[in-house]
Amino acid sequence: MDVLQTPIEYLKGVGPSRANLLKQELGLHTFQDLLHFFPHRYIDRSTFFKIKDLPKNSSEIQIKGEIIKIQMIQQKRGKRLLATFSDGENQMELVWFRGHQWIKESLKLKVSYVIFGRLNWYSNRPSMPHPEMETLENFDKGFSKALQAVYPSTEKLLSKGISQRIIIKMIGELLASLKNPFTETLPEELRSKYRLIAKNEALINIHFPKDQNTLTAAQNRLKYEELFFIQLQLLMKNLQRKQKIKGFEFEKVGNHFNYFFKEKLPFELTEAQKRVIREIRKDIGNGQQMNRLLQGDVGSGKTIVALMVMLIAADNGFQSCLMAPTEILAKQHYQSLKDMIGDMGIRIALLTGSSKKAERSQLATQLESGELDILIGTHAVIEDKVQFKNLGLAVVDEQHRFGVAQRAKLWRKNSIPPHVLVMTATPIPRTLAMSVYGDLDISIIDELPPGRKKVKTLHRYDSNRLKIFKFMADEIKKGRQIYIVYPLIQESEKMDYKDLMDGYESISRAFPSPHYQISIVHGQMPAKDKDYEMGRFIKKQTQIMVATTVIEVGVNVPNASVMVIESAERFGLSQLHQLRGRVGRGNDQSYCILMSSHKLSSEAKTRLETMTASTDGFKIAEVDLRLRGPGDLMGTQQSGVLQLKIADIIKDNQWLKTARSDAQELLREDQHLVAQKNTPLRQTLAKMKAYQNIWNYIS
Ligand code: ADP
Ligand code: MG
Repeated sequence: MDVLQTPIEYLKGVGPSRANLLKQELGLHTFQDLLHFFPHRYIDRSTFFKIKDLPKNSSEIQIKGEIIKIQMIQQKRGKRLLATFSDGENQMELVWFRGHQWIKESLKLKVSYVIFGRLNWYSNRPSMPHPEMETLENFDKGFSKALQAVYPSTEKLLSKGISQRIIIKMIGELLASLKNPFTETLPEELRSKYRLIAKNEALINIHFPKDQNTLTAAQNRLKYEELFFIQLQLLMKNLQRKQKIKGFEFEKVGNHFNYFFKEKLPFELTEAQKRVIREIRKDIGNGQQMNRLLQGDVGSGKTIVALMVMLIAADNGFQSCLMAPTEILAKQHYQSLKDMIGDMGIRIALLTGSSKKAERSQLATQLESGELDILIGTHAVIEDKVQFKNLGLAVVDEQHRFGVAQRAKLWRKNSIPPHVLVMTATPIPRTLAMSVYGDLDISIIDELPPGRKKVKTLHRYDSNRLKIFKFMADEIKKGRQIYIVYPLIQESEKMDYKDLMDGYESISRAFPSPHYQISIVHGQMPAKDKDYEMGRFIKKQTQIMVATTVIEVGVNVPNASVMVIESAERFGLSQLHQLRGRVGRGNDQSYCILMSSHKLSSEAKTRLETMTASTDGFKIAEVDLRLRGPGDLMGTQQSGVLQLKIADIIKDNQWLKTARSDAQELLREDQHLVAQKNTPLRQTLAKMKAYQNIWNYIS
């Protein structure tokens, strides 16, 4: 076995119980894990301060000097240990609130120390609580003369005595005992292209950098390596998938598509829509299975694209289904597609959780006999009971509610899997999307239909509510309709429900019937009541729709021109953007009003400012990503992007692009990595695979 795979407990000074802690708290199992456990920051240990020059606001400070007095002080709240420290000119106090006895015994007078830590300032006098201390002699001998690594840690590790010093020591021991532990993982060609230092050198310098330059060189090398191998694996998987998985060949574009295009299409397609349809046509016509993600901002017109692809399926004698995340949305899709198709002879049906039994069994017969061309519905569509005659295309709308597992379910419906088109209005930046969704190809609608007015977005505090009511009344007078949305967060559902009801009451008072009519929709209502209320709003029988986020996805009421979002600080950016997308669908100037209290976290402030400054979904997604990190991104859990050890998917975006295009080029030349020069890659991938399996199995 590779020495790097040695369990960490065999490292000098570790042993089973520490090894267990390191496993549990940091996920470190082996020597290799420890070497790949990277610092998250560095502190400068090359600069020494004089006590008279100590800065008021700096974080960590290092001083040389001697202890000239030690005393124990008894106070009401307990004892503390005080040492007077002198740099030869001035004096300051070092303070310990815990662990007095052994510290007191270890402190020596008349010995030169280097102390390191944060300062406290009391009435203009500095003191340093719990300093890190080292004798000058040891300091001069030690590793950490310049930049010192700081590693991620946990409360538990600290309380069990695994301090930064211990971690540094462990890694130092390991590096000293294993000379050059790694076989080089990158081909010479790539290394010289970017002047990347060798793997072993990079490891030493990432943990014990001599100076900023060697640190940067080490970081670049390791980031590139990390991103490159992720890309290489994703691209190889993608190539294999394409070669292995046969798909239905939709070879022709026939009467249905052409007739619709010439006679029924209610508007001119945007260039982006045309481009995307071309991309999809190429995909479904080449005999391989399509697995494509269609990204497009709210209102960019994804539905019509889906419909036209479903018509191509019908032209080739195949059935399609379209799945939506909610019943309301499924119904709306059904209604609008049915209207658009009109009398074309395409047979379309709706299946949701509340479809009646008789209806279901009739549907089942029609699906199996091939009488139906298009089935629209909720998750009910992929239940095992639902059998198609020949499902050729599955469209999934709003994928963030629709997991990978559910996509997989679709595949079991045929011996040959249907083409899959996943549509999402939660865009993520293109390069990121490419790297995250290894198994999906990507199309983007990056253009809104012409004539859309930008939604004016304002942030107002709760104290301005009366003015907002006045504004709402004015809009209603003009014939417009209004959404008012309350947050719904699962953990506090009861409280949210109360907020919603309180809000509803105060709005009912401000907008009394019979002059005003108000709809209310929330998650705890039975589906048929929701539909009834939605229906009244769609038919303009009510002017105001009070709702929780159930309306977030996809609802289309062009006459609604005002979206008021209550407690907007509690919503995430992508949710706010989705909600705003409910207005601005008609010809009128629309407004989105973000209501919040005065108490805002800095992150909440950034979110609200982003919303008022931009309507570009991609820009908003980027800010969102920066705020939250990629951890919450849909579907990323499977991709390895989450487990990045050193690269940052946003900050190192340039490296990401480079690594991706290098991996692409390399595979174009040598798909199976058989060339001599690619031996390091082949070997590294084999090791990664082998050891990944072992550890997955064990842990
Ligand atoms: P989304 O991408 O958010 O699902 P939709 O497909 O619901 O957007 O389209 C939003 C609205 O824009 C719909 O009313 C649709 O009919 C209309 N639309 C779509 N494409 C165009 C176009 N090219 N020109 C004009 N209107 C369009
Ligand atoms: Mg949509």
